[in-house]
Amino acid sequence: MAEKELIVIESGEAEQPFNYSIGLYGSKFFKELRDRRVFVGSKCPKCKKVFVHPRKVCGECYVEMKDFVNVGPKGKIGTFTILRYAFIDPETGEQKPVPYGYGFIQFDGADTLFQHYISIDDEKKVKVGARVEPVFSEERKGTIKDILYFRIID
Ligand SMILES: [Zn+2]
Repeated sequence: MAEKELIVIESGEAEQPFNYSIGLYGSKFFKELRDRRVFVGSKCPKCKKVFVHPRKVCGECYVEMKDFVNVGPKGKIGTFTILRYAFIDPETGEQKPVPYGYGFIQFDGADTLFQHYISIDDEKKVKVGARVEPVFSEERKGTIKDILYFRIID
């Protein structure tokens, strides 16, 4: 007699634990963010550009950067999008509430852009050049999630 059994496999949480190194510069960035809520960039000794996240070599000058500078925490929106299409967030395995903002922030004192969520409480205020500040997580662990999102400041 054939047995008919439907097997259901639950994916449960979308947790996929693994470890990887973020390097000396990445570690410095996230340690300062976690411990002091400070954003750190690396400054090129030749062209003087400040990179956030910090990186070891200037991609334009090909010289090593050893100087760290604090930037922000305030900045401005370089570009952004407002997402309105619901999807499964790969970090949580749950549907991401929509709409939400995502953009590229240029910290005061930095020359590069930093990606993160942008609060869209008042969509009319979300525009290129709008001033923003970070909203931090109460419990910081040294990850990008230590920043909840950036919010518009007037
Ligand atoms: Zn340079």
